[in-house]
Amino acid sequence: VSLQSYDPKALPPYWQSGKPTPFAIIASSLRSISLDKGRIAASDALANLLRSVLLHFPADILSAVYLLSGTVAPSFEGLELGVGGQVIVKAAREVSGVTTAEVKRLLDEKGDLGDAVMEMKIKQTTLFKLPPLTVSSVFTTLRSLAQLKGANSQATRQQRIQRLLSAAQGEEVRWLVRILTGNLRSGTAKLTLLGALAKAAVANREWDDPQGGKRRGAWNKVVERTKEMEAVLRSCWSVCPSWDILVPALFDPQFDPLTLSERLRVHLHIPIRPMLGKITKDLPEALDKLDGLSYVADWKYDGQRAQIHWGGGVATIFSRHLENNTGKFFDVVNMIPQACVPTTSSFILDAEIVAIDGETGKHKPFQVLSNRPKKTQGELADLKGSDVCVYPFDLLYLNGESLMQKPLRERLHLLHASFSPVRHRFQFTNQLLDAAQDDVETFLSDALAGGAEGLMLKLLDEPPEEKKAERGALLATYEPDKRCNSWLKVKKDYSDSFRTFDLVVIGAWWGNGRKAGWYSPFLLACWNPKTERYESVCKVMSGFTDDFYREQLTAFTRENGMISPKRPSGYEVDDHLTPDMWFEPVHIWEIRGADLTLSPTHSAARGVVEPTSGRGVSLRFPRFVRVRTDKGLEDVTTSMESMYIYVFSGQVGLGVLTHHLWK
Ligand code: ATP
Repeated sequence: VSLQSYDPKALPPYWQSGKPTPFAIIASSLRSISLDKGRIAASDALANLLRSVLLHFPADILSAVYLLSGTVAPSFEGLELGVGGQVIVKAAREVSGVTTAEVKRLLDEKGDLGDAVMEMKIKQTTLFKLPPLTVSSVFTTLRSLAQLKGANSQATRQQRIQRLLSAAQGEEVRWLVRILTGNLRSGTAKLTLLGALAKAAVANREWDDPQGGKRRGAWNKVVERTKEMEAVLRSCWSVCPSWDILVPALFDPQFDPLTLSERLRVHLHIPIRPMLGKITKDLPEALDKLDGLSYVADWKYDGQRAQIHWGGGVATIFSRHLENNTGKFFDVVNMIPQACVPTTSSFILDAEIVAIDGETGKHKPFQVLSNRPKKTQGELADLKGSDVCVYPFDLLYLNGESLMQKPLRERLHLLHASFSPVRHRFQFTNQLLDAAQDDVETFLSDALAGGAEGLMLKLLDEPPEEKKAERGALLATYEPDKRCNSWLKVKKDYSDSFRTFDLVVIGAWWGNGRKAGWYSPFLLACWNPKTERYESVCKVMSGFTDDFYREQLTAFTRENGMISPKRPSGYEVDDHLTPDMWFEPVHIWEIRGADLTLSPTHSAARGVVEPTSGRGVSLRFPRFVRVRTDKGLEDVTTSMESMYIYVFSGQVGLGVLTHHLWK
């Protein structure tokens, strides 16, 4: 039902206005989205559901959003459900009385734990009917499961899951299990949910207005304002990726939802999605892009990105992917007061944490950082000799004020005025301000000789209007979650050898010979943000150790929901490239290739490089480099990036590029 023709007043028979929202309505929405009728239909279905909740039981709106996103807390709180398949199977057997052999048969037949448990429940004969599940009771129980700790937690977890499964009916069972395993598989991608929230917020005000009713001409206004609202919401999400703050502020009846970005402050201890750099082929290309503009050249250190929040004497450190890394870097936390000048009371720093030799200050490879345990008892002995140095490169917030709207020159000035270096622990980055082109060349050689990955060239001041129009996306402000032309990466990789790609693993075949019983090769894909689909780009079978192959057998199992029974709807893969099993898109691997080539089988950037033949781009001689746990799905190399690299690596002439830009 489209957004316009949906009537939020017409409720299903099991829900009365003013009564808590039934969980069944969430399950039925997730079901309809999983039928894959496209992104617009999915976002309409979600928006309609949210409109009903807003009208009949607004207190449930936050719990509903969490359940629809399959989460129970913001990612940076580190509260994850991830209930193992075994616990769910045990609970389901207790509830339904099904035998172990029957469970196995159902799992084999359905290939999905949610579907199998739903089938088990159908076989159950119930004497007592439990009260129906509500959105708030399910959310509260799930959150409590994620918080369970200690000796009896496993038994308590199972008991609570049993209680939920006993009360769940039909579709509710399937979606409950999928949320529990942290694997929703229903296409409620973050962008779809943000789009649905935008639609619901505007329609709720302009269209469903209980006082005014549906006024003439109001629909056009809804459409227009929804587009604006979506952009506002996306930018708010990049500054404050927390439903806890965004959802109540968005639906606050006192305000027009379109004023959300004006009302939203930067929150200390809530991560800002980091600004990202654009790749360039080599230094001349980067310098060319910034020709005539003021810029700073910064060493690009090879470590781990850290966003350091400090306020009220408390520090929080977030990874590039917004995980809470405070425990991992407790030595950095202890060092912070030494690095602050007396007037610095609160701040948000963007920095690179680099492994070093604590005595000499010499840099160590990035991999050393992974030896650090994720959570420590705060004992120096836990660090296994992996000392680190913090290299701050940006200041986003200082003493209660956001600096993101200030140009980089001013932010850097404040950065240097607010901190002082601590030997081998906190150092300003090696930097060339307003440099001449020749000096930057020498600076790049120095950086590479000094163990850095290359340089970051960043725009310092807001460019004149005509330059902005000419070159696009040139902003000296801090732009959360954006890859802008104002941050350019120059890496050794791009000029010396072929660059690496961050790709998502979407499937695998069973190996032969020595690799029999293991997954090999794996199928990898890039991401097309326009269609929101993963497009296959290569098969990988080299660069792995035997241990790695073994680990993958436990990383991708049916029980943990990582193997999908059928091709997930968001995968663009040719039929004759169908792997033995499809994987859920979770693991991101860095892959190096010899070059890119046009391919009749792979679908990355299909129709762009060669509009007529329909060939896509594929990576030749791909080799696994490392797992990128620090990256999220939104960081996967996009099909367009691979196409550009294909073009820039001289494979096709400028005509193709012009054709693409023209399109
Ligand atoms: P890569 O895979 O090249 O490390 P990325 O995709 O993780 O890059 P980008 O924004 O594209 O992230 O590249 C910038 C990265 O380089 C930052 O995430 C940060 O971790 C690192 N870095 C090191 N030194 C600097 C610096 N001086 N300024 C900005 N980023 C830096």
